[in-house]
Amino acid sequence: MLNRFCWFTSMAVLITACLNTLSLAQSVDAQRHVVVISIDGFAARLVDDPKVPLPTIRQLAREGCLIEGGMTVSDPSVTWPNHTTLVTGMKPGRHGVLANGVLVRGGIGVPVKIDPYRDQSDLVKVPTVADVAHAAGLRTAEVNWPCTRNSKSFDDQFPDVPNALDYTTPRLRTELIEKGFLRDETHASFRNSSVVGLDYVWTEAACHLIRERKPHLTLVHLLNNDATHHRRGAQSQDGYTANAYADMCVSRIIDAIDDAGIRERTTIILVADHGFTLTPKAIRPNVLLRNEGLLTVEAGKLTQAEVHVVPEGGVGFLYCTNPAKAAEDAAKVRKMFLGQEGVADVLLPDRFQEVGFPHPREYNQVPDAILVAKDGYAVSGAVTGETLVATYLEARTSLGSHGFLAKLQKMNAMCILSGAGIQSGIKLQGADNTSIAPTIAKLLGLKYPHADGKPLTDALLTSIGK
Ligand SMILES: [Zn+2]
Repeated sequence: MLNRFCWFTSMAVLITACLNTLSLAQSVDAQRHVVVISIDGFAARLVDDPKVPLPTIRQLAREGCLIEGGMTVSDPSVTWPNHTTLVTGMKPGRHGVLANGVLVRGGIGVPVKIDPYRDQSDLVKVPTVADVAHAAGLRTAEVNWPCTRNSKSFDDQFPDVPNALDYTTPRLRTELIEKGFLRDETHASFRNSSVVGLDYVWTEAACHLIRERKPHLTLVHLLNNDATHHRRGAQSQDGYTANAYADMCVSRIIDAIDDAGIRERTTIILVADHGFTLTPKAIRPNVLLRNEGLLTVEAGKLTQAEVHVVPEGGVGFLYCTNPAKAAEDAAKVRKMFLGQEGVADVLLPDRFQEVGFPHPREYNQVPDAILVAKDGYAVSGAVTGETLVATYLEARTSLGSHGFLAKLQKMNAMCILSGAGIQSGIKLQGADNTSIAPTIAKLLGLKYPHADGKPLTDALLTSIGK
């Protein structure tokens, strides 16, 4: 147990040390601005779908560079891990964020919990491109960006965490109240809005920051698109309405860039964290584990587990809580699930290189096995019920899901680069979301060499120094 974190910690320390040294020797371009807008769950295929009006997004693509077919995302194709990949250029297995929070192992018999109430320093094991930009003296801002709570690297922040207003930069919070975008300082009144209303506030917060502070790097994350796709499915009437609303939010942000007088010097990077698929059915692995006596349910709640599954959309992270027999338990449970309806695969640690994860011995948030659902089935965390397979309503999953292995093309995310430094009217293929952070770094004149991906140099003008 002593060296359980050794590999991971030593990698993180090494990268941090290198980046700290680099930040002292940056030759930044303080004339340039990069605005990253992430529309959560905006599947790549929507950009070409004739059923949805996307005037702003398509104009950005026409005037800039469209990644045709979208970019491949990282495993797990989940929100916080992929937003962190977008700003680190590293796979989740390297940057450390494997879920929408920290996966906490509580010991033998104790079910693993996801804890989202964490600071960036607890969640992300390596410096982000925003950390490097700020250390190099550039102005930075984020609005609803995951895994940034209590970051010291933003001049203004409004992070994507529970109780977000408590962690919002006080001057920004006051300004948003004065302008009428927030009712008051309490998180309760903010959360009382719908997710459409939250996107409105986040969009206006981003516009305000761009007009007033002209950050060199702005990160914005909008959520209504994802929420609607979960509830109604992508490419549904409601889904299209959410896409069109997201397009209007992007248009508002571009107006703010114009108002700030920095359009000629600004690159817009429009991305998503993952795509979507329809999941009318679900598998409930914990029901099978309960029936095998591997977990205990009292009053409808999971109270004790030798083995249990934490759902992550299209995959389930299987945890064996007794380290002494984790490998044996995982192999036994793998046999139980293989061949069952809705189960595509069960990966044991010897295949974790396929998803870029280290062995659970090296990083204890890593599960002991990964259960992969077939397309059309979500993984449910339900512990009640009798059958493995249920409808999404019965299993309390959603009609639309992500979290499937990133190699499933439907998980591909929109990616458009447009504006300063970007070639006009080109299409590229085969990009990966680990390329975004090094591309941001290149545009801002920052050195950021430890990313898994390379900058998208084919999209850049020669003036950027490719
Ligand atoms: Zn997401």
